[in-house]
Amino acid sequence: MADTQPVIFVGGLGRSGSTLLERLLGEVPGVVPLGEVVHLWDRGVRADEPCGCGQRFSQCPFWTKVGIRAFGQWRQSQAGWLPGLRARVDRTRRVPVLALGLASREAELAEYVRSYSRIYAAAAEVADAQVVLDSSKHASLAYCLSAIMDVRVVQVVRDPRAVAASWRRRVRRPEDGRPMTRWTPARTAVHWLAQNLAFEVLRRKGVEVVRVRHEDLVRDPRGTLGRLVTRLGLPDGGLPFLDGHRALLGVAHTVSGNPMRFSVGTVEIRDRPGPLRRSQRWLVTAMTLPLLLWYGYRLAYRPGARR
Ligand SMILES: [Zn+2]
Repeated sequence: MADTQPVIFVGGLGRSGSTLLERLLGEVPGVVPLGEVVHLWDRGVRADEPCGCGQRFSQCPFWTKVGIRAFGQWRQSQAGWLPGLRARVDRTRRVPVLALGLASREAELAEYVRSYSRIYAAAAEVADAQVVLDSSKHASLAYCLSAIMDVRVVQVVRDPRAVAASWRRRVRRPEDGRPMTRWTPARTAVHWLAQNLAFEVLRRKGVEVVRVRHEDLVRDPRGTLGRLVTRLGLPDGGLPFLDGHRALLGVAHTVSGNPMRFSVGTVEIRDRPGPLRRSQRWLVTAMTLPLLLWYGYRLAYRPGARR
């Protein structure tokens, strides 16, 4: 049954370290990481961007098999109407409606979630995995999925000042060389609050939401990942791919995500938060209080300082 497939959803605001966490969890036996499934139709099926394995989506043997099992094949027509359905049911502005459980667009929501559960079930079958990992991040999708299916959420949190510094940086997408979206610190602060508060409310609704601070993962990869794996009921297996602050990563068929999804071999687990101007630092700090303190961050932002 498609809707009994165990799914772990990695949530949080972009640039919070969700790709690193996904890659590490993806090395745990029985877990298959899929990347950001929310972008599968537009970036995979339509734009044919490369999978994490380096092959184009249409050439990747893993996703080809998943498409056959889930839908007979990946169809451009489906890639045409599914993003429209997403725009109607899966939006941050609809989180309050979903949080209150108000009856609204229920048939469309069920149809939307069905497209995910088919992909999850097919991916688990093709990879011979027990658990699939979707790192789509957006809280609104976590609400949509949890309204219909059993989903556990890992909420990745990072110091909002470090997140704001990252959103200011100029970075090119390895997929097509185009610049990645940039946000002002104020905009990042608003999104940081909205996403994290949405996950806090989701937890209060009874959905299992496990919070992980990116800084804790980077400071103590083995301890932090070990606790998370235990909490999620996954086989620990001794985490043999971890060696101090290094991880040995295999190929992952991730459909979209941060450039780190292409990394294979030994990678350093580190954090290099960028600088922010004094005024921007205080703006983000003021805007994200008191949640920033609740998550254990200090008022003063000192990039690189150990907490
Ligand atoms: Zn692939």
